[in-house]
Amino acid sequence: MSVRVVARIRPLLESELDKDIIVTAASNDDRKTSNVVKIPSPKNEAEEFSFAFNSVYDNQATQEHLFTAEVAPHLKSLFQGLDVTIFAYGVTGTGKTHTMRGGLKLAERGVIPRLLSGVFRRAKKITKDSGGDTTVSVALSYYEIYNDKVFDLLEPLEKRTPSGLPLRAEANGKTVVAGLSERPCEELKDFERLYIESNINRVTAATKLNAHSSRSHAILRVKVTQVTGDMVHESTASAIDLAGSEDNRRTDNGKERLVESAAINKSLFVLSQCIDAISRGERRIPFRESKMTRILSLGQNNGITIMILNLAPLRSYHLDTLSSLNVSSRAKRI
Ligand code: ADP
Ligand code: MG
Repeated sequence: MSVRVVARIRPLLESELDKDIIVTAASNDDRKTSNVVKIPSPKNEAEEFSFAFNSVYDNQATQEHLFTAEVAPHLKSLFQGLDVTIFAYGVTGTGKTHTMRGGLKLAERGVIPRLLSGVFRRAKKITKDSGGDTTVSVALSYYEIYNDKVFDLLEPLEKRTPSGLPLRAEANGKTVVAGLSERPCEELKDFERLYIESNINRVTAATKLNAHSSRSHAILRVKVTQVTGDMVHESTASAIDLAGSEDNRRTDNGKERLVESAAINKSLFVLSQCIDAISRGERRIPFRESKMTRILSLGQNNGITIMILNLAPLRSYHLDTLSSLNVSSRAKRI
């Protein structure tokens, strides 16, 4: 069981009026790559806080760079049977969706399309190298957790029930989402079609509820099944675009927003506790305390977890940035 927590500071956007950059990447040893985030204290500008991570990426880091350094090395493990879980954590507007989904242009594609592309490439190679003895199949599920309820993003909106899909405990101790659909995918094109359609679904659903998709967790699950004779190996990669970690109570006091905030805050809190416990090598991981960590069985297997903390460099995000740094790297504050 291993966990890596990395930070990614996004560039200043052309449209941004606030050009006051206060979050920077540094290095606390003589490595060439950064592993420290620096930010001034909000009370005393002269004082500076430092937070250590496994790695820190600044605005020079391309999508390809991030994927190659942080995700690609684990593709091999996935095919060896380990589960791989990748989270994007951070305040709304800091680049979570950019990191996970990315843009349409090839160079701008994010972790998810690159992951799928890597999975299909490897699947083909394994089949070929085995002379056809091993077959690999890939199936996708895509769902969101909104207000602690689970909704299938691969199903049409009309099929949704207000309470969402129930969870079910299986004999092997795992928790699964009952009735969650799964679609076989043979190539990147299948995935792309499905992903684009269901993301439209996601935004439409949120709009209907008078909500915003940044208030739900979107979870893409890639199941890889390898069959050789009567031997079956199954493993999953999960990529999660988390709800915004900002304190919603401060910006919006509506009753519905309060319910949302409570659900978001709790699940993000439990998630950070799990990440903390895993990184400290503790035996007890509080993964049962929230629906998301339960479904992911976080820390319950030999898997690999990568948490990407997205950060905006600007002063206008100061307090939210500080609190997201505190939550995601409490174990490593230096
Ligand atoms: P979030 O999902 O965390 O709310 P987004 O991914 O939507 O944030 O990013 C906010 C804006 O910043 C978007 O316009 C996005 O394209 C841009 N952006 C984020 N990260 C980067 C990056 N590394 N390089 C260029 N633009 C980025
Ligand atoms: Mg987003």
